[in-house]
Amino acid sequence: MLNVTKGERTLRKNQEDQGCDKLLIEDMGSEFRASNEEFISTGRASEENMIVYEGEPSQHYELLESGEDLGFEGAEVDNNDMSIEVTHVVNVEWEDGLNVNIRQEFESKQAVADLVEKGSVSYVELDEKQRFKYLFFALGACIKGFQAMRKVIIVDGTSLKTVYGGVLIVATAQDPDHHHYPIAFGVVDGEKDSSWTWFFNKLKSVVPDCPELVFCSDRNQSLIKSISEVYPLCHHGYCIYHLSQNVKLSCKNDNRDLVATKFMEWAKAYTEPEFEKLYDAFMKRYPAAGAYLDKNVGQSKWARCFFPGTRYNIDTINVVESINGVFLQARGYSLLLMIDAIVAKLNQWFNKYRKLSLETPRNRIMVPYVANEVHTRCLGAKLLPVTELNSYFLEYSVAGVNGSNYVVDLERKTCTCKHFDIDRYPCVHAIDALMETKKNPGNAIEMHDLCSKYYWMEQWSLAYCMTIYPVPHMSTWMIPEHIRDKIVFPKAYVKKRGRTQKKGSINWRT
Ligand SMILES: [Zn+2]
Repeated sequence: MLNVTKGERTLRKNQEDQGCDKLLIEDMGSEFRASNEEFISTGRASEENMIVYEGEPSQHYELLESGEDLGFEGAEVDNNDMSIEVTHVVNVEWEDGLNVNIRQEFESKQAVADLVEKGSVSYVELDEKQRFKYLFFALGACIKGFQAMRKVIIVDGTSLKTVYGGVLIVATAQDPDHHHYPIAFGVVDGEKDSSWTWFFNKLKSVVPDCPELVFCSDRNQSLIKSISEVYPLCHHGYCIYHLSQNVKLSCKNDNRDLVATKFMEWAKAYTEPEFEKLYDAFMKRYPAAGAYLDKNVGQSKWARCFFPGTRYNIDTINVVESINGVFLQARGYSLLLMIDAIVAKLNQWFNKYRKLSLETPRNRIMVPYVANEVHTRCLGAKLLPVTELNSYFLEYSVAGVNGSNYVVDLERKTCTCKHFDIDRYPCVHAIDALMETKKNPGNAIEMHDLCSKYYWMEQWSLAYCMTIYPVPHMSTWMIPEHIRDKIVFPKAYVKKRGRTQKKGSINWRT
């Protein structure tokens, strides 16, 4: 077995090209990653050779013996004995080699994973020349767990950093304790109508369309169009942070950051009167921004109080952008390594929050985030005067700190401040009313009865009940014949013109 060691190594280009390159080799278990300032590639060492592709099969490198210094590009290479014979492989290998094409690997991985984790779903789409086009995968544990979770999916695409480019799509929920909960991933060639539509059609096979479902995203036009076509029953809201960044650009003579901040405050208004008050102030102070909004975006797409679906607290796509940050390094890996990295991270998150949810004392019924919020509100609620309006229907009037009176209906779980209705756990007025009910003997309402069940510990535990197992080593895979016979070519590679010099990186050729 070729000994692949970590560190800087010298690689020679193939027979037709006598140039040499130095690359940083990183040992990643069964695979390695080679990189310099121009490209990142991955491969596996086999019994006979090691091949690193620069992108096209004709531009691979061969590894020379450790310690042999052949200088930089242009140095003469004459010691063939020290090099390892390169097997010419044309269009039958993905960048990770071993004569196994990507679909074989993925489907066989899936077959193995399905043995231990039922319900995972994957799709691979090829173009007319049998080249890789799209990939979709969703783990059974996440699909199953999402059933116990608020039906809000945040979706976004982010660029991949390999020579093949493309976009990684992440569809994620936020668990009730405000942690990441990715449901599905996609790899596509760009944020286009066709790719988004393909992704949402596959997502629909694991998350069906229904009026309770809400999507939150930026305003990518292809994404908007695809959701409306594939998920006609769901509701779709826009990320108010992204919108604030568009809004502020429409103001030329104002403090743009302040415009964005004021817009976010306006968008988060819970009631229509509050919204109208902020609307008047905003339009008077920033007429250009107001005109931009009126012309380009309907209020029901961004204003919390007008949103027709149940969006809870989720009105930005910060969650998915945070996930993109977590996978920043993995987005530079080859496809299979990236999937492994994603699965490993999901396993880590599942284990962490499963443990947390099961170790929480049994007498705590609400998830920690909501329990803390309610606890804080209790302190304020004690100070507010409350009047019983109807003891049979559990209606109360509560005086707010701003002098207004709010009507709480505990039976229907509403309050005229609308926090109770939208957040789906009690506002300070509802808590005050609940305290009042305790004065009536025999009243059995408890705090957790006023919270959506999505905020209950048992639901939180259910979301993480399944184990995510790592994918076993490929040597243990039993690849069915019909999968082994399939051939998938790498997707077309367009070499970028010029060179981008990363700040702080070393240029080996100078
Ligand atoms: Zn209230």
